[in-house]
Amino acid sequence: MNKEDLLSKGYRKYSGEEIEIYFNKDICTHSGNCVKTMPKVFDTKRKPWILADNGEADSAMKTIDLCPSGALQYIYKKDDK
Ligand code: SF4
Repeated sequence: MNKEDLLSKGYRKYSGEEIEIYFNKDICTHSGNCVKTMPKVFDTKRKPWILADNGEADSAMKTIDLCPSGALQYIYKKDDK
């Protein structure tokens, strides 16, 4: 999905230097995978709860790939030109 599709489907954008992370709260099944794997990037006690630059972009992308619901998505900025 591209940026426009994600936003039109209700995803919210959390921008970082290398990646943009997108999250849709209506899809999240609260498995907790993201917060367990990368607590510095994904912290539900913080606002904003996603800080894309608080960890390696590679690791964040791998973590997002493991989100079981699809509530997390990313766009790698170098591919988005
Ligand atoms: S990994 Fe995906 S489904 Fe699980 S809590 Fe995070 S966003 Fe929600």
